[in-house]
Amino acid sequence: MKCITLILLMSTVTFLFGQDIPHSASPKNSKPQTKSDSYTPSPTRQFVVKKAPKHIILIIGDGTGLAQWSAYDAKRTQGDHTSTNGAIVFTDFPVLGLSFTPSSNSFITDSGAGATALSIGQKSQNSMVGLSNDSTSFKTLSEIAHQENKSTGIAVTCELTHATPAAFFAHQVSRELMLEIGKDFVTGSSIDVAMGGGKQYFDTAALVKAGYAVGTGEKAIIALQNQKRRVIFYDDRPSPPKAQEGRNSSGSYLEKASNSILRTMFQNPNGSFTMIEGSQIDWAGHDNDSVYLMAEMEDFDYTIREVLTMAKQQKNTLVVVSADHETGGLSLLGWDKDKKQPVMNFSSHHHSGIPVPVFAWGPGSEIFGGSYQNTEIFYKIKGLMELSNKKK
Ligand SMILES: [Zn+2]
Repeated sequence: MKCITLILLMSTVTFLFGQDIPHSASPKNSKPQTKSDSYTPSPTRQFVVKKAPKHIILIIGDGTGLAQWSAYDAKRTQGDHTSTNGAIVFTDFPVLGLSFTPSSNSFITDSGAGATALSIGQKSQNSMVGLSNDSTSFKTLSEIAHQENKSTGIAVTCELTHATPAAFFAHQVSRELMLEIGKDFVTGSSIDVAMGGGKQYFDTAALVKAGYAVGTGEKAIIALQNQKRRVIFYDDRPSPPKAQEGRNSSGSYLEKASNSILRTMFQNPNGSFTMIEGSQIDWAGHDNDSVYLMAEMEDFDYTIREVLTMAKQQKNTLVVVSADHETGGLSLLGWDKDKKQPVMNFSSHHHSGIPVPVFAWGPGSEIFGGSYQNTEIFYKIKGLMELSNKKK
């Protein structure tokens, strides 16, 4: 599998700033192609941005393909195809890309390899987190940001040790090693603020010793707001409940957690990197449960609305919304008048191999257009972080 690498020309940053140059390199050989003249993509691609973002927010909808977004969009507009009040990614995000999701050993990725491609830019084997195909440990986007004195955050609606968040701070051959992943969080210490479930997988005394304020429950989100390094667990259960079963009884948990984290992130003059995950969209797909799916998509959409509102106030923040893979092989076959939602047909209880959309907003968003392997998202974000450092 070919891997396309992103290169930001650091030596010419000053020149490139403010220049409106096409962001993909033109093919060296521009003569018309014949049947015997196959086109080989350049192994490297050059991207040019007008402005580097200081703060970067990567929002992952686990298992969220175009069908999941389209179903929610139709439900939100109640089937009115002329409405301009649909899903936030369709109404407010100007840049759209496509991310191809296969892992190193399977056309159908799992969340471990899917998130690892985004976090370290390496195709990995299913079930691995933070490691390349041959089990080599690479620095994650969060670890790179931490090293550059940026603030880092994670907000999820699953266990903090679950595959997607784990890929941003842990390096383990199996996503099932949740206690080891919890230890990696403490020893790596690269995440400043984390909110989600999975308390049982953490040694809270070790967290405190490592300099974290630790709390449990939504009141702790408010009480510990001024602690720069904090871990707040949803409650004592392994994972937060479904949105429709109490998680959002006092408003969206993910929205509140994201708001709290970003308020801390935006205080750092060096910038920040935050990963936010709508984790249970995937679980609804596995269950082939359309009502569960719509509730999680609504929660995800509202969280993104809040993040975008905060990003707009900052003016120096990039927001990227994508997925690790699609779940359920979902297709939309009509409109269900009784349920007031599309007729959803799931073709699988597992993940599918279809590419997932990438929506981008803010400075640097222009380089997320086009289609590419999921690993390229890592290089784009890493390149923008480096550009932001260079500009200081
Ligand atoms: Zn899944």
